[in-house]
Amino acid sequence: MSILKVDEKTGIFGEGDQTFGGSFVPPELQKALDEVAEAFARYKDDPDFNAELQAYYKDYAGRPNPLYFAKRLSDQVGGAKIYLKREDLNHTGAHKINNTLGQILLAKRLGKKRIIAETGAGQHGVATATAAALMGLECLIFMGELDMKRQALNVFRMELLGAKVIPATSGNRTLKEAVDEALMYFAGHPDSFYLLGSAVGPHPYPLMVRHFQSVIGQEARAQILEKEGRLPDYVVAAVGGGSNAIGLFYPFVEDLSVKIIGVEPAGKGLDTGYHAAPLNVGEVDVLHGFRSYVMPDPEKCWSISAGLDYPGVGPEHSYYKAIGRAQYVAVNDQEALDAFLNLSKTEGIIPALESSHAVAYATKLAAQRPKDEIIIVNLSGRGDKDVAQVAEMLGRTPEQAAKA
Ligand SMILES: *Cc1c(COP(=O)(O)O)cnc(C)c1O
Repeated sequence: MSILKVDEKTGIFGEGDQTFGGSFVPPELQKALDEVAEAFARYKDDPDFNAELQAYYKDYAGRPNPLYFAKRLSDQVGGAKIYLKREDLNHTGAHKINNTLGQILLAKRLGKKRIIAETGAGQHGVATATAAALMGLECLIFMGELDMKRQALNVFRMELLGAKVIPATSGNRTLKEAVDEALMYFAGHPDSFYLLGSAVGPHPYPLMVRHFQSVIGQEARAQILEKEGRLPDYVVAAVGGGSNAIGLFYPFVEDLSVKIIGVEPAGKGLDTGYHAAPLNVGEVDVLHGFRSYVMPDPEKCWSISAGLDYPGVGPEHSYYKAIGRAQYVAVNDQEALDAFLNLSKTEGIIPALESSHAVAYATKLAAQRPKDEIIIVNLSGRGDKDVAQVAEMLGRTPEQAAKA
């Protein structure tokens, strides 16, 4: 019997007065969500659907990607063995494509002609525009007006891929407003399919995104059994909304010998309020139509990595915390930056700043553990997108850096 209590029909995790997830939305939106939930329930175990998805994973996204033993990093640390799950090697450079390919195939099954999505830094927008181009579907991406200025290159990428980027102009003009406006558009345009980018939002998105991202943990599990003949002692991943983390964690959740650690961004420090670590410092509330931990002051949401600065978190992580199945720690901006620089030099792998949070914690953990223990870290994405930002943080323009 599973250790998890989740109602697959409502997406509610847990029982009694401590539940997470669910759907708290107006009736028009609920109707649109019900159609998505029905499609997911109908196709998730359908052999034809899964054969098609597996073919795209293999020939388009480049799966399976390797589970790589980071020997130089492990030697440098002098403790447990660190393995990296190489989601950075996927097409478009991160785990997000796993989810966009899955959801877009559902949209096709439903006969939808138009895909809509929200994006913060632009990574999910690019992964969605990619999948929409692949399927020949119209694509609208909602993005905060401020984020469009900060991430102009990703706006251009989405346009190259044939998508239209729509500025969200309310409030702070960032991710939260982009989600609000995408949900509103979805409620008014049931001929569209809302392709949500993380394991958040109202039912069925948290369960659906976990399903499509679980390929990460399924592969990692088989790969470590092949390489080491046993399960890992720890699995570690960065948590923004929580999709790359739940994708790695879920296939290990019944293996109680495997300790699960999610790493949230502590930003400028948990005590400053400027972080995005609701599982470390937060309260249970409803945001964007689902119940989960939320930052006490969402206006202060901050992380060095744009992909992690969401004020809430996927409900399944709140539930894992509540039942004690996972531990959630936090790593600050400086520690993440140090890990970014160190992994680049020791392994020749430039990680995304998001993934650098997981690498930073895993390195600290490995140093305290014996050499015969095994840690799997999800390297959720590559860091090419972050190189200019890091140069600026180090006080060097990319032009100066190139000359040096
Ligand atoms: C978007 C992103 C994340 C954060 O999103 P999750 O849903 O928490 O996985 C992490 N790593 C990379 C590389 C990303 O692009």
